[in-house]
Amino acid sequence: MRLSRLISKTQREIPAEADTPSHQLLLRAGMIQQVSAGIYSYLPLAWRSLRKIENIIREEVDKAGGQEVYMPTLQPVEIWQKSGRDKAFDSTLPVFLTKDRRDHTLVLAPTHEEVVTDIVIHNVKSYRDLPVNIYQIQNKFRDEPRSRAGLIRVREFIMLDAYSFDKDQAGLDTSYQQMLDAFKQIYARCGLNAVVVEADSGAIGGKESHEFMLPAETGEDTIITCPKCGYAANAEKAIFNKKIDSRQSDQPLLMEVVATPGMKSIEEVAGFLGVPAGQTLKAVFYIADGEFVFVVIRGDLPVNEIKLTHALKAKELRMATEAEVIEKGIVPGAASPIGIKGIKIVADDSVISAKNLVAGGNKHDTHVKNVNFQRDFKADIVTDIALAKAGDICPTCDSVLQAVRGIEVGHIFKLGTLYSEKLGAHFSDESGGAHAIIMGCYGIGLGRLLAAAVEQNHDDKGIIWPVPITPYHIHLCPLYREGSRVAEITEKLYIDLLVAGIEVILDDRVESAGVKFNDADLLGMPLRLTVSPRTLEKESIEVKWRAEKQARLLPIEGIVGVVKEMLDKHT
Ligand SMILES: [Zn+2]
Repeated sequence: MRLSRLISKTQREIPAEADTPSHQLLLRAGMIQQVSAGIYSYLPLAWRSLRKIENIIREEVDKAGGQEVYMPTLQPVEIWQKSGRDKAFDSTLPVFLTKDRRDHTLVLAPTHEEVVTDIVIHNVKSYRDLPVNIYQIQNKFRDEPRSRAGLIRVREFIMLDAYSFDKDQAGLDTSYQQMLDAFKQIYARCGLNAVVVEADSGAIGGKESHEFMLPAETGEDTIITCPKCGYAANAEKAIFNKKIDSRQSDQPLLMEVVATPGMKSIEEVAGFLGVPAGQTLKAVFYIADGEFVFVVIRGDLPVNEIKLTHALKAKELRMATEAEVIEKGIVPGAASPIGIKGIKIVADDSVISAKNLVAGGNKHDTHVKNVNFQRDFKADIVTDIALAKAGDICPTCDSVLQAVRGIEVGHIFKLGTLYSEKLGAHFSDESGGAHAIIMGCYGIGLGRLLAAAVEQNHDDKGIIWPVPITPYHIHLCPLYREGSRVAEITEKLYIDLLVAGIEVILDDRVESAGVKFNDADLLGMPLRLTVSPRTLEKESIEVKWRAEKQARLLPIEGIVGVVKEMLDKHT
């Protein structure tokens, strides 16, 4: 590729609409172009990277036994009604709907569980037909209310979607493990450092679930990890050991009403009474699917709203307003679960072992000491609804947990029989009995992976492509001067590199070294080769890794072989 002919141009200014490094750099490098909010064109350089990612994914999923199919983007709404997921269209599954000329509603595919299950219904009859693994790498659509960060959260995207079908749980476990291993292999082959974490299964449903995260400061997700035993989970799902070192007596003491003038927050009350926050009881109020919910948790712990939503089996959850709290006869700042009637109470399990807590008195400027669960208040639901954070104790080895930001670049689920039961996907066993087929699903967003790769691999000058997914391997920079052999040597080198199967961008523009080097750094090809009158004096070419500061001179003689060897070490 001759840079003078490349359709896209680099830009020096940071685009105003871009707030994350990958969004800024992909725009500045002329790799993507926004068409509308969350809708992008991939220009030639980004498209080359994307196809490399796609090939790696295809090879690894094929190795894991996947069979590639093409499934339609236009789907009749009836199959979504059959699975019941049409009810989630406005909330957790923001779809694009359209109508055909007969006024028939069609869904622009946000995912393909319904269609893939239909393929299986028509083709799998007996246990002998199982297991199968079917996949596609295609466009999907979600009408995200907040598309953001360039390719990280978009409305039209390309995804790998693989689905496994098994006759029993052991089969699903095997298929799931094969795909988990395949995913690990995909990220490693892309030259990316991904962490596997336990995940919440969210809108898709199902039981066990893992996410693959690329650690990056700009990530939307928080990963809780244990440096000692390797425990890793999304903060939405992470658990921790809630034991607290306390001086509190194990014997429940008698309740005691105390005046706490002007003290409302946990910090104020704990400070005023001289107890740690962990010895107070925090009250938080939510509206879950329209119902008022009183949540209590140990004072030092934040509520995890995802866990709370699951505990309540709620579709929608929001904090209650102060007016809604007062309307229930509760005093904000001194709220107490003691004596509450007719309101659903959800307690975090931390309140079981914590003794003699300070709780609200449900009267202004009043709190109650020595409040104990069961004796003084009860709850309708007692379960883990606490948010894990850095500094908490590891649930498996008692080390201190750490938190890092990450970008989710893959998600796998054990769906079980959720869809096969609703859609009627059955197989007959050896004695002719019918059973629902057990499913797993496995997804990678390709554009997001590309952007996450940039988030993980860049500096203040530009992108630093990992060799396996770089648009081109080499950025060839001739510094032309009239009367020198630069043009002649460069042309020969360009052809020799191409013949050796190395992908090259030749910066054939008549520009200064500064302009050429800045663009080479911004575009981020792994190796830069510079041919100049100065290097030719020594019958040499300057070779520099994008990721390294130092360049070195290598003899022209044999340079193609040397460069090939350097690149091969990284693929
Ligand atoms: Zn641990």
